[in-house]
Amino acid sequence: MTMGAFRLERPRSVADAVSILAAHGPDAMVVAGGTDVVPNLQMKLFAPRVLVDIKSLAKVSQLAAMEWSPENGLRIGALATLTTICESPLIQEKFPVLARAVATIAGPLQRNMGTIGGNLCLETRCHWYNQSGFWRKSLGGCLKLKVPDAFAGKDGPICHVAPGGKFCWAAWSGDAAPALLTLDAELEIAGPAGARHIPLAQFYKNDGMDRIALGRDELLTAVRVPARMAGRRGNYHKLRVRNSIDYPLAGVAVSMDVDSRGVCRDARLALTAVNPAPLLVKEAGESLIGQAASPELIDRVAQQAIRTAKPLTTSGSTPVYRRDMVRVFTRRALEEAWRGGS
Ligand SMILES: Cc1cc2nc3c(=O)[nH]c(=O)nc-3n(C[C@H](O)[C@H](O)[C@H](O)COP(=O)(O)OP(=O)(O)OC[C@H]3O[C@@H](n4cnc5c(N)ncnc54)[C@H](O)[C@@H]3O)c2cc1C
Repeated sequence: MTMGAFRLERPRSVADAVSILAAHGPDAMVVAGGTDVVPNLQMKLFAPRVLVDIKSLAKVSQLAAMEWSPENGLRIGALATLTTICESPLIQEKFPVLARAVATIAGPLQRNMGTIGGNLCLETRCHWYNQSGFWRKSLGGCLKLKVPDAFAGKDGPICHVAPGGKFCWAAWSGDAAPALLTLDAELEIAGPAGARHIPLAQFYKNDGMDRIALGRDELLTAVRVPARMAGRRGNYHKLRVRNSIDYPLAGVAVSMDVDSRGVCRDARLALTAVNPAPLLVKEAGESLIGQAASPELIDRVAQQAIRTAKPLTTSGSTPVYRRDMVRVFTRRALEEAWRGGS
């Protein structure tokens, strides 16, 4: 569990960070809170020659700031810690789905160190990938992690989850992304050509290896939520082995706008940990708009959520149980939203 050698760079500005990333290409890796990067380096899942520590930018930029206005909505800098977000009275009041999802991430120590930017750029996870080098080598590696020299005279790497295919099913295992998808969030990204914006829903590629639409020379700088999403009812339900700390095995986020007669004006539902990306269940929104609560409607939406979820084998649970929990969580989250509780 020792880390390989690397050079640590501490950029003085966002532009400086981007030029260091551009200069080193695939040899460089960003580290923010380090709560995911450091364990992964210790397990030798990757070996960057240069680590770009962006935590220092919190002091010289708006990267850790959180701003809200009724005109411009919410902007959270990529270096805002998870604790700052889930303990913020503003987020709890205006964006309860986000406060609740972030409060379930890891344990208090990781939430104090971990940042929202790191959470949205997390590596995908898999039972056969997140293991020691010894364990992985005995299997001969996999599509996501190729072990050098392990294949002399044999076939190349395979996916141990779905051995017949050439697709990597490592699961998206972050909790903030599904909540932010239900809030129609957008990302701010800095790169050599300046800043760009991308809807969060387009950021995830649903590919366990090539997980996010972020160039090697780009830095996530902020996430924005439109003002029109403030005040929506919302909730997040998560399945994990130990409630005190573990990554999700399945998660369902719901945000809903309900009128005084109990009719849904707008709703969004998103899943995590059951595909290589966090995904919106598009049909769910279509089914719910203009409807009042009924057991039949809630069952129909729960079925739509199950059809989107494609959990495969992992440790700690079975695909059948995880899909079933997606159904249970969808029902619970919708019933709560309609009852008015967040
Ligand atoms: C025991 C344990 C339990 C955990 N449980 C959970 C859990 O339940 N749910 C969950 O969601 N996570 C969990 N995590 C993972 C982690 O703690 C959080 O996801 C955290 O938010 C990651 O943020 P970080 O700043 O530490 O990211 P880092 O580890 O610094 O980085 C994570 C990834 O994001 C990239 N990155 C970071 N910031 C940027 C940026 N601004 N621009 C571009 N790329 C960037 C890094 O290069 C890296 O690939 C757990 C971790 C541990 C150790």
